[in-house]
Amino acid sequence: MRISLLSSGSKANCTFVEAGGVRFLIDCGLSGKQTELRLNELGVDPTTIEFIVISHEHSDHIRGVGTFSRKHKIPVFVNEATKKYLPKSYAFETFVTGDEIPFGSTGKIKTVSIPHDAVDPVGFTVKANGLKLGHVTDIGRSTSLVKKELMGCHAIVLESNHDPNMLLDCGYPWELKARIQSTHGHLSNEACGGLLFDVLNSDLQAVFLAHLSENSNTESKALETVRRYIPEGLHLQCGSVGASTGIFSVS
Ligand SMILES: [Zn+2]
Ligand SMILES: [Zn+2]
Repeated sequence: MRISLLSSGSKANCTFVEAGGVRFLIDCGLSGKQTELRLNELGVDPTTIEFIVISHEHSDHIRGVGTFSRKHKIPVFVNEATKKYLPKSYAFETFVTGDEIPFGSTGKIKTVSIPHDAVDPVGFTVKANGLKLGHVTDIGRSTSLVKKELMGCHAIVLESNHDPNMLLDCGYPWELKARIQSTHGHLSNEACGGLLFDVLNSDLQAVFLAHLSENSNTESKALETVRRYIPEGLHLQCGSVGASTGIFSVS
């Protein structure tokens, strides 16, 4: 299984996954052009992407989905409520939140309901060839369902959005600060570490910290906080909006 966070942060989110020989994107928040560029930089031909799966309708997750899917004739998997907010795309395949989406010969994407201020937001787990990836961003708080679904992962992409003190001090209006901190907002560094601690297992090889706020977090604060909750040898890396993480292989 190969993973790269092409972009991750408050402005644009897009993850490349190759599992069971099938290549797909989770969200497409970069422009169509940037999505192509960053895939090319990784040596991935954009025409080999077989589908895109969408977590929720916020623009930082869907900005490029229309242009990228139409240009390369890529179907978009999305739930019915979220579909209404998406731009015209090549084709839609709808799922019901909680369903599994089969792909390739044995691959499965489980869609998991998460608390966030969107119409029907989801996180994902991807299973193929005995490997499991968890991918959860834009989650206001940890839930027992999310914990259950993230058990047994070989790699996890998890939101580590903000440092609570930086959030209080930053220039955001108070309504936005309240929204981010609410149970339907975003996960703090500390909450991210706590959730990871709850789902640690001996198979886990890599953790990617996702959706870091550009205004109320820093990579060093996120890494320092989360590192306290996980074993020392574990690969730990932040995604960013400026560049992709490069490709990480899980085997
Ligand atoms: Zn987002
Ligand atoms: Zn969101």
